[in-house]
Amino acid sequence: MLKEYNAKRNFKNTPEPSARKHTMGDHFRFVVQRHDATRLHYDFRLELGGVLKSWAVPKGPSMNPNDKRLAVHVEDHPSDYITFHGTIPEGNYGAGEVEIWDKGNFIPVNANIEPISERQALQALKNGELKFVIQGNILAGEFVIVRLKDDDKNWLLIKHKDEYAVKTVFNPEKFRKDKPAKATKSKAGKAAPKAAAKAPRKSASKTVRKSASRATSKSAPKKKAATRTYAGKKS
Ligand code: MN
Repeated sequence: MLKEYNAKRNFKNTPEPSARKHTMGDHFRFVVQRHDATRLHYDFRLELGGVLKSWAVPKGPSMNPNDKRLAVHVEDHPSDYITFHGTIPEGNYGAGEVEIWDKGNFIPVNANIEPISERQALQALKNGELKFVIQGNILAGEFVIVRLKDDDKNWLLIKHKDEYAVKTVFNPEKFRKDKPAKATKSKAGKAAPKAAAKAPRKSASKTVRKSASRATSKSAPKKKAATRTYAGKKS
């Protein structure tokens, strides 16, 4: 499964980890890496089956359910890649800066938002549609990633309507934690809307939390809120 990943890289020349399989318990991790390569994109990765199932999302994930973000399926990455950030040197595959945009956990779920096993989640991906509840710093609540019909590569990443969803335009560039001093070529942020510009720069998680506070106590930590929502639907 990781052969393609290794084949594309010379690990003497890139700081990225080489591939080896990793087994884990029943917690599932995700990462979104902002990758300023030839074309800026966000790599969305779900840890399943001992690897990172991966998609390149040109416009980045969105917390607005009206956005159907194109997610181009790419080769599985090794689990160790989940912490990778830094520079992939010129001349190497994917050369450019990688920064961690968001990370956390996710729970794969069925249509009733009940948890499913890792095996069921892998099968759901094979079938072309996986729902999950995410608990990140920026991303939160229910999402679906769904494959386009008659298409191997192209999927859509869509936020479900829930208490975490936002109605304003969502620009992932506004949520970068470690912004380099110099301005970078930002293509995803091109259509920077007034609504997103209104939000103060540092309030990424606040914005998300704010939308969640309708249904949950403000003093409750975000993580608990997500769990409660999810557990509530289960029963
Ligand atoms: Mn990439």
